[in-house]
Order: sequence, then structure tokens, then C-alpha cells
Amino acid sequence: MRYLVLSDIHANLIAFQTVVDDAGPFDAIWCLGDVVGYGPDPNECVALLREYEHLCLAGNHDWAALGKLDLDTFNADARAAATWTQRMLSASSREFLGSLSSLLCVGQFTLAHGSPRQPIWEYISDTLVAHVNFFHFETPYCLVGHTHTPVVLRQDAEDGNCRILAPRYGEPIRLGDARLIINPGSVGQPRDSDPRAAYAILDAEAMTWEHRRIEYQVEETQSRMRQHGLPYKLVARLQFGW
Ligand code: ZN
Repeated sequence: MRYLVLSDIHANLIAFQTVVDDAGPFDAIWCLGDVVGYGPDPNECVALLREYEHLCLAGNHDWAALGKLDLDTFNADARAAATWTQRMLSASSREFLGSLSSLLCVGQFTLAHGSPRQPIWEYISDTLVAHVNFFHFETPYCLVGHTHTPVVLRQDAEDGNCRILAPRYGEPIRLGDARLIINPGSVGQPRDSDPRAAYAILDAEAMTWEHRRIEYQVEETQSRMRQHGLPYKLVARLQFGW
């Protein structure tokens, strides 16, 4: 089976469609949460995901759009976008987002939006947090999103310490004996100073993982955000990837 693994679409339909078109043949999508929030096309992104065989986890922005968490935990721009998303969501998108699990185990993979320890909220953004999280899942590999930054974190078999491996785009890596936490990056709002959409291909037969980046029409998403009056900062950040 060949999986298109992605996260943090954030209602950016142009980026999501570009990724699907670029991915080549795949059997299913594994989406690690935050389908909506920030971007201009929440219902359309839910609909596109549902066109494919898929697994999808709940992210904090999906919960925010459902009113399942306190918006005061968000900054002003994220809160404005979440309130707008709440108003825009169709009944069927609402039902879909409401049905999502916050943690799944599939074969050798544990899937969560943030982390296996705190699936909705925790950011695995350094080796210390990663180190602790290796004790919170039992499979060899864990896939997460939430930081919007592609990365591989490897647990050293000898000393248990955690090491960061930078993604090498377009070069499949073999999933071997080492336990890994892997983040495919964000489709719809990258934050690693690279505005291209990020995603990954998991080949579960060859047991390889490949990080990828693809340019999309950022200006189109930005103009749709302006049409809807979404916050200026959220519009601007897309072209820089922060
Ligand atoms: Zn996110």
C-alpha cells in the first residue's frame, strides 16, 4: 500500500489539490489533523479528503471549529479565523470533523496530530519533548503534525537519546530498526521558511518514507482569504512560510 501522508491542510484547497495532483498514485490518504482553520475553503477541503480512501485525526483547529475548545487559548488572528470557520462550516463538514479520533494505531504506526502523549495540543518541536514522547507509544513509528515543520526524530537504540534528521526531499528513506517520530510538515501553512506545500509518501511494502515539497499558487489562496476578510497576517505569512 502506498499512502499519501499529510497534515495541517488548514482549509487551503489550492495547496491540497496541488499535493494530491503531485503525489502520483496512492491507495489512501493519512491526514494528521487540522483540515480546517486559517484558510478560506474549509468545506471544500473536507470534501476533497472524503473523495479518497482516508484516515484522519482530529487537530486543535478542527476542535476549535466545532466549539470543542476554548478560543481564548488561541492568539487573536487564529481566534478570528476560527470564529469565521465556525460560521462557514456545513452540517456535513461539522459531522465529519466531529467523528475524528485523536489517536490511532495502524500496523506499525501510531498517528496523532500533536503528540502521542497529548494528541491535540502538544508540539514536538525539540528533542527533549520527542524523547519523552517515545515512551508514550508502542509501535516502532509515530506520525505527527501540528508544528508545520517536516522532520524525522530518531531514538538512538543505545543511549535512548533523540536525534533530529533534516528532511531530504525526494529521497526515500528506509524505515528500519530505529524508532522514529516523523512529521510530514504542513500542506496549507508551512512554518519552516519554505512556502511550498509539504507532504510525504509512505510505501508500506518497501517500508520507505519520502518527504516532498511542491509549489502551489499561493496568491490564489491569498486572494480568496482577502475576499473573506481573513486577518492580514494570516494572508501574508503564506508567501514566506512562517
Ligand atoms: Zn496546524
